[in-house]
Parts: sequence; structure tokens; C-alpha cells
Amino acid sequence: MPWPDIAPPTDRTSAGWHVPGLGMAIAILALGWSAATWTGTGVWADRHLQHMMDREKNAAAADAEAISVNIDFQLNQFRSIPTVMSREPFLMSMMVEDWPKSKVRTLPRDERNAAWRADPELGGLARRLADIVRDLGLSAILLLDDAGNCIAEGNEAALPNFTGANYADREYFIAARNGHNGRQVTVGRVTDTMSIVYTSPIMVDQRFVGAIGVRIALQSLYPLVIEDRAFVTDANGVVILARDPDLLMRALPGAAVFDLSLESRTKLYKKTVFETLDFRPLGGHGVADSLVRFGAKGDVHVIAAKAISDGTLTVHVLRETAAATAIGQERFWWFISSTLVGWLVLSIVILGLHIIRSNRRHYRALADLARTDPLTGCANRRHLYEALAAERQRGLRYAVPFSLISMDLDHFKGVNDQYGHPGGDAVLRHVVAVVGNSLRPTDSLGRMGGEEFAVLLTQTTDREAAGIAERIRADVEASPTAFNGRMIPVTVSAGVAQWRAGTAEAVEDFVSRCDAELYKAKKSGRNTVSVQSP
Ligand code: GH3
Ligand code: MG
Ligand code: MG
Repeated sequence: MPWPDIAPPTDRTSAGWHVPGLGMAIAILALGWSAATWTGTGVWADRHLQHMMDREKNAAAADAEAISVNIDFQLNQFRSIPTVMSREPFLMSMMVEDWPKSKVRTLPRDERNAAWRADPELGGLARRLADIVRDLGLSAILLLDDAGNCIAEGNEAALPNFTGANYADREYFIAARNGHNGRQVTVGRVTDTMSIVYTSPIMVDQRFVGAIGVRIALQSLYPLVIEDRAFVTDANGVVILARDPDLLMRALPGAAVFDLSLESRTKLYKKTVFETLDFRPLGGHGVADSLVRFGAKGDVHVIAAKAISDGTLTVHVLRETAAATAIGQERFWWFISSTLVGWLVLSIVILGLHIIRSNRRHYRALADLARTDPLTGCANRRHLYEALAAERQRGLRYAVPFSLISMDLDHFKGVNDQYGHPGGDAVLRHVVAVVGNSLRPTDSLGRMGGEEFAVLLTQTTDREAAGIAERIRADVEASPTAFNGRMIPVTVSAGVAQWRAGTAEAVEDFVSRCDAELYKAKKSGRNTVSVQSP
């Protein structure tokens, strides 16, 4: 005997997880969380960066201050030398004596050099100047006449020498000729090295007769630049001192040197083209204005500057702030991890809801299964008894009538015998469909067992129920079951009864009464309806 088909009716679409818009809502929630996290970590990073930058800026400013104080102190010592020497009586008298300078001045440079060096008086002076240069650690001392010619020198190197050269166009000479102390940073005309020159005028009877100049090689200040990322610019914004040789002779962006004529540039620096220091604005953060990218790798730096007291030089200190990059990375990781945590929480919540929903669905399916006849899909006996009990309660409270039809297929054994058990099953399913079609939504059809069914008719008297039973009987008779290309005719007998409200009749008694009517219908020849008179 084949297994009966007991698969429960399933309805996946209504119980499924495919709520429209839910996926969209989850996506918006996840993206919204990410956006909030991105903004939040951005605010955090900016604040953190501001704090660290302030600290770095203070440190850079302190370094610049220290270096400038050191350089200033050193230069102050040198600055006072020409002032002191310009008041030496023997120098003053030498400059006004009538030595054959006027004639020599017109000679070419080499000859002037030879003549002045050969002069016993100037030669003796040169030796004394050389002693002073050595004792004080200077680069050179130059004695200039009133036309800017160097007539004697003390020089740290024996050669080359300055004597015979003319410095009338130098700022330091022009200042002295105007009666002031002069100073200037230049590339030496003879030496080709960067130096700073301080001058004082030699005045006799308030008349300018010459100038004394002290030359300090900037190289000698090198040990004072104690930071690797520090450099010193002159008044034109040209880097004249730095630990990093790549920075030397470069100019600050927008430096004054770019406004000088090519001729002036050549005179001062012996070159006309200046590369700009490679500062690039940072961009991106709120504190970017105080930061620059610098160097080949474009690392972020803070920058601080401090001018030394006479304004000739400015000390700059760059401090690399790996922090800026680090904070950027940290912010990124915070963003990633909080996004993931948020998404994880969201997933857990969604998963939890899903589990709750599917459990409920499962429970409902089980409950449905327990109340449904597996073969035909209509209510089972237990379900129908529950419905009857509920309807009885309603009848007790509101005095609404209700009725029951008990039905049994006629000679069903014969159907099984003739068409086999599957044929019988097909008939049972077909009859349920036919009966279901002729019922109202409030009526319930249940399978009481075997080929026995019952129909609960709410708010229905036995008279109305008899009509419905007759209709069912006729419908079943008129609708044979198609099975394996054959038509199986079947008829049904039915008993009808109305619940007795007056006696608060028990469900079992009511069903028995109805069954008794069914028995009568069978006895009176089948394919008929029997109604108990009230
Ligand atoms: P009557 O007109 O007196 O009701 O005659 P009957 O043959 O229908 O009555 P009987 O009670 O003698 O036989 C009922 C038969 O219904 C017996 C049983 O094999 C068959 N049957 C009960 N449940 C099922 C079922 O689920 N599937 C099939 N195919 N047959 C069933
Ligand atoms: Mg039977
Ligand atoms: Mg029967």
C-alpha cells in the first residue's frame, strides 16, 4: 500500500523574510553609521592634530630662538671689532697721510695689488691685521680707502687676497661712506664663499677717509645650527647656512631675491637662478595653514622662524611631525574598526530578529500542522471540535444558533476496492475541494476520520443547514473525481442538527445527535440528507 501524501500545505511567500524596503533600510542604516563614524573620527583627528601641532610649533619656535641667540651672540663679538679698530689713531693717521695711493689707484688691479703690498707701511699693517684675524678667528679684515679699494688686508688664507680689489658697490661700503656701520651677506668676489661683512667708517675731522671691514665666513657659524632641519636665510630670503647642503642657496617662496635684478643677484650671489624651497601646503585638515609638506617624501612639518637682532639673518626650524601622518592613519583605523563594530552589532540585531521571526513562523507552521488534516488540507477532527467548543461558548453568551452537518461517503470501500487506495485518496481530496467551494467563509469543514466529514455552520438554523447539506450532496454527486484518466463517481449521505441552546448541550452530545441523523440517511438508502426535527 503506497504511503499517503501527508505533506502539509506550505506558503513560503507570506512567511518569508522578503519584506520590501527592509534591505534598503539596512543599507541606509549601515552607510549612515559609516558616515557618522567618518565625521566623528575626523573631528577627533583634527582636535588631536591641533594639540600636537601646537606642541610641535612651540618646540620649533624654541629651537629657532636658541639658534638665533647663539648666532647673535657670536656675531655681536665680530660686529664690535670694526667699530673699535676704526678709532685706532694710527689707522686714522695712515688714511690721511700722503702715500702714493692716488697714482696707484688708476693702475690695473694686479698692479695695484703688487704696489700696495710692496708698500712698507701698508705691508706692515697687513701683518698686524693678519695677527688679529688669527687671534679672533675671523676670515679676514679689510682696510678700504675712501674709493672702496682694499689697500691692506689680514686674511686667514695666504691666498687669494683682497688687496687691489674695489668694493665701492657693496652695501657695506656704501653704508660706511654715509657714516654708518654696514653689514652685508655676499658671496666673496675673490673667495667665492658665503660670508657676512661688518664695516665701520674711519672718520677724520668728520670726513670719511676709508672703512675697516671684518669678514666672517658663514661656514664658521655652522656648528651653531644645531638642528638638522634648521637653516638660516639672509635679508633676501636666500638660504646661506644649513646642515643639509641641498637647502643651501635656495630661496623661500616669494623671497626678496626674486625682486632683485639679475645684475644684483650676480653681484651678491654670483648666480641668477634660485630654486625655491620645496614647501607645499598640506590641505585637508583645519590646522593645515601652520603645516607644510617638505622634502622628497612630502613629510609634514611645522615651521618656525626667528630673526637675529640686527635683522641680517633669520633662523628657520622645520620639525618633522610624523604625528600628522600617524593621526591620519589612526583616524582611518578608528573609522574602520568602529564601522565594523557597528555593522557587527547591526548584523547581530538583524540575525536576532530573523531568528525570532523564523521561530514564530516555525511555531505557527507546527500549530497549523496540528490542526490540519494532512491528506486533504482541511481542518482535522481536533480543530473542528475546538471550533465547535468556541461556537458553543458564543451560543451560550449571545444565543446565536449554529448547526452541524455530519457527512459520510457512500460505499467508499468499493471505491478503494475498484480504484485502489490512491484512487480513494484522490476522491477524498476532490470531495473536500467541492464541499469547500459551496461553503461560506465563516463555515468550517473538518475531516472527522476515514471518509467522514463534518461542517460547522455558524449563525445557521437547522432549516438553513439542511439546504446547504442538500446543495453539498448534489454538488458531490454531480462532480465525479478524475483519476488516471477515469471518472470516479461518488455520493454522500448527510445528517443535520442544530445545537440545543436551551439545554446548553455539550459538544459530544450535539455531534452524536448529528451522527444519528447521518445513520438515518444511510438507512434510508444513502445519497440523501436527514434533518432532525427540532
Ligand atoms: P457506507 O456507505 O456504509 O459508508 O459504506 P462504506 O464502504 O463507505 O463504509 P465503511 O466504513 O465500510 O468503509 C470505509 C472505508 O473507507 C474503509 C477504509 O478503507 C476507507 N478509508 C478510510 N480512510 C481512508 C483513507 O484515508 N484513504 C482511503 N483511500 N480510504 C480510506
Ligand atoms: Mg464510514
Ligand atoms: Mg462510508
